[in-house]
Amino acid sequence: MSGDRRRRDLLQSLREQGITDESVLQAIGEVPREAFVERPFADQAYADQALPISCGQTISQPYIVALMTEALRVEPAHRVLEIGTGSGYQAAVLSRLCRRVYTIERYRTLSEQAGERFRRLGLTNITQQVGDGSKGMPTLAPFDRIIVTAAAQEAPQALLDQLSPGGVMVVPLEERPGRQSLWRITRDEQGFAREHLTAVRFVPLVEGLPREG
Ligand code: SAH
Repeated sequence: MSGDRRRRDLLQSLREQGITDESVLQAIGEVPREAFVERPFADQAYADQALPISCGQTISQPYIVALMTEALRVEPAHRVLEIGTGSGYQAAVLSRLCRRVYTIERYRTLSEQAGERFRRLGLTNITQQVGDGSKGMPTLAPFDRIIVTAAAQEAPQALLDQLSPGGVMVVPLEERPGRQSLWRITRDEQGFAREHLTAVRFVPLVEGLPREG
């Protein structure tokens, strides 16, 4: 089956699972997921499942990327911060929907691989950093939207601080060992409002930087 055909089938399956935001579906339709998976998994690029990437990490399942992107309510003028670049797929999808994506990854190897993909695909509105994303990007804050693609115990305070008034954060939290949920946190004049979205499974948000050989 051709990549186009498989992408169309994926969009159909995302609609059947309840994704309704046409701009999100269009962005997913525009980004070739096969460019973000490792070669041995290329033929599974459009199956609705997470896949392994370098450094023991994973590229999220397309449905979860769609759900998180929809939940984030991204607008064209927004500056969006992503924690956990991973393969770069989520950042690429966001880059079709907003002014600029800022994405931070603790593994340099992953960040460099993602950067090559962005260049090859001509995605020029993505700014990358290697570092501990639990601290956000304080010099570039505030952000209209923040998406965290690794699970923390609690939403990191630094990220809450870097959210604009009226801003939205989507973040998976591990409430109990082995049990994670996706939350949407909205900042208003009173403070932060939290909405529970769904059960999820992400790799952990890890503080500090790894040793890479
Ligand atoms: N958004 C990714 C999914 C990545 S999996 C994609 O579309 O492919 C989560 C990523 O978060 C992993 O690459 C992991 O290394 C990274 N990560 C975990 N803790 C982090 C931290 N404190 N700072 C930055 N990145 C982190």
